[in-house]
Amino acid sequence: MRVLAVGGHPDDLESLCGGTLARFAREGHEVVMCHVANGNKGSFEHSSEETARIRTGEARRAAELCGATHITLGVPDGEVLSADRAQRSLVVDLVRDAMPDLIITHFPGDYHNDHNETSRLVFDASFLASVPLFVSGKPHHDKVTPIYYTDTLAGLGFVPTEFVDISEVIGIKEAMLRAHESQVAWMCDHDGVDLVEHMKIANAFRGQQCGVAYAEGFAPCLTGLRCTTKRLLP
Ligand SMILES: [Zn+2]
Repeated sequence: MRVLAVGGHPDDLESLCGGTLARFAREGHEVVMCHVANGNKGSFEHSSEETARIRTGEARRAAELCGATHITLGVPDGEVLSADRAQRSLVVDLVRDAMPDLIITHFPGDYHNDHNETSRLVFDASFLASVPLFVSGKPHHDKVTPIYYTDTLAGLGFVPTEFVDISEVIGIKEAMLRAHESQVAWMCDHDGVDLVEHMKIANAFRGQQCGVAYAEGFAPCLTGLRCTTKRLLP
């Protein structure tokens, strides 16, 4: 199976579904990890350009740790906009290149608007990717791909309906998140949040809900053309 995961910022996929992506890769599936925004506002000490460069490098290392391919779309932080035609075309081409069987992205009611706009971008663009007359220079994808939404930050406002046991890969997930060294420091300084501890508590809580040590929660996008009878998650 080919799995395309699309997050807002460089560390979001690692936080919210890194364990599931690690399991997909370990079980022989192709995984592409893409972040739409380049992370360029997440620093007290570096310029925007330096911050984007540092964070892209961190995301590349994190993806390597789980055996995924890394892509960034390079949109500045705070400027992800689903109505923007250029951004929509970028995501159409992302889907057409990846030809995914499953797309994972943010739930469209998370704490950061870049996450919510990423979710809408992915929803819109993954439909348009299947439309031959939406011309982008790349061949159209032959289906409207099912989407699964990740948990939100701290699980607020989100009710998972499917769980993935990540107990055996929690070490890989933690290493992926720690690869985002600059963001771990930023979240501590700017928000008073220990990103790694925060993730482990959230995943232990989801684990309690489904009877394992650590789990990630998801909900399918239940709209026309997206539903399936198959279990797509590990
Ligand atoms: Zn984010």
